Amino acid sequence: MSKYLCLSFDDGPNLGNDTTMNDMLDYLESEKIPASFFLIGNKINPQNRKVIERAQKMGCDIQNHSWTHPAMAEMSEEAIREEFQKCDDAVFEITGVRPQFFRPPYISVAEQMYNAIPLPFICGHGCKDWEPEVPAEERLKLMIEGTKDGTIFLLHVSEGNRATLEAVKKFVPMMKEQGYTFVNLPDLFKLEGVNPDVPKSLWSFVK
Ligand SMILES: [Zn+2]
Repeated sequence: MSKYLCLSFDDGPNLGNDTTMNDMLDYLESEKIPASFFLIGNKINPQNRKVIERAQKMGCDIQNHSWTHPAMAEMSEEAIREEFQKCDDAVFEITGVRPQFFRPPYISVAEQMYNAIPLPFICGHGCKDWEPEVPAEERLKLMIEGTKDGTIFLLHVSEGNRATLEAVKKFVPMMKEQGYTFVNLPDLFKLEGVNPDVPKSLWSFVK
């Protein structure tokens, strides 16, 4: 039986001269595996669109993580709709594909978000990699603890987040050795035979 894992990365693309997302792509390319990227729409600019195009060419999927990364549970349906749509349009403009999944910023979720956003919500197994003081070894340990067939890993390629790159570089060969195949998010649902379109879903494991 095949076993599948999906690495998903939030908060790209990177601003200024930061290369965290691109460095992650270098590594994924060297291992010949895809991943999923949930982008913050208003970070996309003419300089960093190349890295998004590169990810897409490598078989990575580009998903919606809102326009400005607010805690949306506090917002009106109309404001939520705008946050969603602006990111959706920015991704479509570059990739030619509408995002199929939404990750709520801070995994802050409320009823009106499900009304306003017409996509399945993704959480994922968190590895505390948004906390700068959590070292690579601890992130790796948390990744290993969350590993089972169908796990989505919630990770970040935010500016300067080198410890996650370090943890992923140790994690991927270890899990390949154990017989896991890394796939992108749409393929994870397909290969596990699970339909993601469940009302008010918040997926972390697909099985
Ligand atoms: Zn985020």
